[in-house]
Amino acid sequence: MIYLDNSATTPIDPEVREAMLPYLQEEFGNPSSKYYTLADQARKAVEEARDQVAALLNAKPDEIIFTSGATESNNFIFKGLADSQTDRSKHIITTAIEHKSILATCQYLAGKGFRISYADLTLHGQVPMDALRRLLQEEPPLLVSIMWGNNELGTTNHIANLAALCQEHNVFFHSDATQVLGKCAINLSKTPVHFLSCSAHKLHGPKGIGACYIRKNELGQKPKITPLLHGGSQESGYRSGTLAVHNIVGFGKACQLARQRFNEHTAAIYRLQQQLLKALQTALPTMVVNTHPLDAIPGVLSLTFPGVDNERLAKALAAEGFAVSTGSACSAAEPSYVLKAVGLPLDHIRATIRVSLNHFHTAEILRIVPVLQQLCETCRR
Ligand code: PMP
Repeated sequence: MIYLDNSATTPIDPEVREAMLPYLQEEFGNPSSKYYTLADQARKAVEEARDQVAALLNAKPDEIIFTSGATESNNFIFKGLADSQTDRSKHIITTAIEHKSILATCQYLAGKGFRISYADLTLHGQVPMDALRRLLQEEPPLLVSIMWGNNELGTTNHIANLAALCQEHNVFFHSDATQVLGKCAINLSKTPVHFLSCSAHKLHGPKGIGACYIRKNELGQKPKITPLLHGGSQESGYRSGTLAVHNIVGFGKACQLARQRFNEHTAAIYRLQQQLLKALQTALPTMVVNTHPLDAIPGVLSLTFPGVDNERLAKALAAEGFAVSTGSACSAAEPSYVLKAVGLPLDHIRATIRVSLNHFHTAEILRIVPVLQQLCETCRR
């Protein structure tokens, strides 16, 4: 199978698997235990991984909190701030194209009396500065949350500018960076975000592990955020529970590799993406690219084939050995909420698939072009 659904998840890098194995075998210590070497080694491994995650973000290691993934990180930031910052505004600003772990959490908080505002978006899925400025002036919020890169469109936001605007207004700024970690440059020493969420399995790490970045203030203090999980006070008290050392080590290794080989990987993906696009545009000249032409995650393409039924197309491609997606949890009855929110018409949405590459790919993926060309004929609506 040629796997072209890397926005959903990525294969584990063999070097990541190798790094994890000792912690599934002989190195089984609990990093919170004391006195003996096995525990010390587990603790050392966790702290090394924390350094590796922090280095990829250009953050300080003690600003990294390990979680079970971006879903948990997003829930933690939103619910934890809402619960602990009770003297502040009950207004939250976000976008309608965030991952469900943000949108559903916002719905939950709306039920608790929060007002949720959704910023206007361009057709490519970007938040214009003016749209955010308008909302900030309306009612200063507790939190602004805007994703770094969108999982369906592949478009990225100008996070540094949006975060700086929030800094001017003295409000918390969070970004879901799950799709961009290891693919787009993130420098938190220069980007004034307070919080960031990510997951290891999007950059060739294991599933069920991720992180939440929490910035300290000038006095070295961290904000008060009520934990989702109370217990043994691991992770500076923000997230109790015995640490999943093997997963944390894998996440750290994935971040280390992504950082060391960033230019090589992104250039390889970009080169292949350009070849694929060129071949597709020649074979299928009516194809529309929904992804922003410049501000985009390398290797993520939202493609529309007018008149084609995307569900039938994705299924037919799978039968031919190609894994692509029709977007997130999209069904014939419920077309992509992301594409709807940016204003694409229904017939366009129902003719759209997402193709997402990884750096292990070779020109072999171009085999999809003639297959797609043929299937676009047979999968007409
Ligand atoms: N945010 C975004 C943008 C995502 O793409 C995903 C995963 N699809 C998540 C959050 C949730 O990540 P996880 O399922 O690893 O918790």
